[in-house]
Amino acid sequence: MCDSVNTGALPQNAAEFSGVSGATQTNQPVVGRFAPTPSGRMHLGNVFSALMAWLSARSAGGRMIMRVEDLDPRAQDRAVAGLLMDDLAWLGLDWDEGPYFQSERGDLYAKAIAQLCEQGLTYPCFCTRSELHAATAPHASDGTYVYQGTCRNLSPKEIAEKSRLRAPATRLRVPNEDDPTGTVSFCDIVYGPCSEVLARECGDFLVRRSDGVVAYQLAVVVDDALIGVTQVVRGHDLLGSVPRQMYLQRKLGFSSPSYAHVPLLVGPDGRRLSKRDHDLDLGVIRENGYSPRKVIGYLASLVGLAEKGEEVSADELVPRFSWDALRKHRADIVMEHETLPPFADASRP
Ligand SMILES: [Zn+2]
Repeated sequence: MCDSVNTGALPQNAAEFSGVSGATQTNQPVVGRFAPTPSGRMHLGNVFSALMAWLSARSAGGRMIMRVEDLDPRAQDRAVAGLLMDDLAWLGLDWDEGPYFQSERGDLYAKAIAQLCEQGLTYPCFCTRSELHAATAPHASDGTYVYQGTCRNLSPKEIAEKSRLRAPATRLRVPNEDDPTGTVSFCDIVYGPCSEVLARECGDFLVRRSDGVVAYQLAVVVDDALIGVTQVVRGHDLLGSVPRQMYLQRKLGFSSPSYAHVPLLVGPDGRRLSKRDHDLDLGVIRENGYSPRKVIGYLASLVGLAEKGEEVSADELVPRFSWDALRKHRADIVMEHETLPPFADASRP
């Protein structure tokens, strides 16, 4: 079922937007990006990823773009977005272009979905959350679910009947498991060669939720391509998104950026740091009087880019940066209590 959106004139800065397969770009200036989600203050894990993205771009003489990922209506607080950008600027992590706000780019996402629809690649999915969980097996690696294709071949009559009862989500059809075009392979700068059979690892995936919110994968692919991002640096938890994003790039005629995933910072229990780890968020750290040099030095020391206890600015780290440092530290970084800096202890500034 195609949407009745106006596909109109296509963006001028997209290399192509026509369904031609994209190729990985090489030998071009590095354009990296910050992509914070304004659902709360940044914690040290977010800052670590941002620092690596910035160092990679700056050490290659490249540029940085600021994009605020505020697609979710619960994460559209401009005051919070302002705090996140202020935190990055305070740390000395600057950018050359933006901010772009995803919440203002809905027309671009709608055009991309219409392009996929015109290729016969999308269909409406009426499954409820509980139906999806009952009918699917959890994905081995990241806890997401493999869609079993329940709504793949609904007749026009069935679609009309179901549409009266509930608004559908929109799914992208991926090739069958025995079709080699459904295998996506790439080489991550840190983690090396990766490959995925889409039909087996994720199945047909969402490009728009039933509440109309555009899926993360679709928005990121459109933004990275139209903004001209050539290198994506982000947490290891998003490594599994690359095959879906590369498949979307191929179908939308976009080139693929290069990908570098960096280790996550996790607590002693192995759980990755999150907004719940309030004592490690930038708001608390700044309130307690810590300097940007102390925070940057601490994070750099976790992967050997600074000595333990060294205080250093982001600028001073640029000539030291190398992906080899990250390749030596692929495992998640456990923040043991005894090694945690006393960031949250106001008596020890
Ligand atoms: Zn369905």
